[in-house]
Amino acid sequence: IIPPRQRKIALLGSRSVGKSSLTVQFVDSHFVDSYYPTIENTFQKVVKYKGQDFHLDIIDTAGQDEFSILSSRHAVGLHGWVLVYSVSSRSSFDMCTIIREKILNYTGRESVPMVLVGNKSDLAVQRQVTREEGAALAASWGMTTFVESSARHNENVSRIFEAVVAQIEKDMNPEPEA
Ligand code: GDP
Repeated sequence: IIPPRQRKIALLGSRSVGKSSLTVQFVDSHFVDSYYPTIENTFQKVVKYKGQDFHLDIIDTAGQDEFSILSSRHAVGLHGWVLVYSVSSRSSFDMCTIIREKILNYTGRESVPMVLVGNKSDLAVQRQVTREEGAALAASWGMTTFVESSARHNENVSRIFEAVVAQIEKDMNPEPEA
């Protein structure tokens, strides 16, 4: 029997972009309208990827802003990161670049397994960041996947976590160069 693989990931991003909502939607399959925004929680879920079980520890962080220093706990010893912004908040989009820089600094790497997520895609009227801008930012970071999601409508939520597991596996088992 192959032992389960444990992977530790964190959701980072500005407050109220929907980090908790995405996590709860993924783990418990429901949408919570108000959660405890300032509390950090760790959730567990088993996901299958390429026929293997991965035990995810998902750290739902309280949220970062320009003045808060990203805790090293949210960078060191983790396998993957989900950077979340809200498509209805330009400042939360800008925040993702700052957070990514901090993660790269902490880990001393030039790239890490990471997925950029524009959440609240259901908020059409309030939209401040286009899908193209999100995709362009992800591409500028060399990312192959970019996801817009709605925790409210459970759209693309599981795709986020599948994508980060895929990124982690790619990182741990790099394809030999041609
Ligand atoms: P966090 O601080 O990043 O964890 O954000 P929360 O998960 O607490 O969500 C902040 C607010 O945004 C809450 O009122 C949620 O109900 C709401 N919210 C979260 N995800 C979505 C979404 O996909 N669509 C909409 N319309 N609202 C959302």
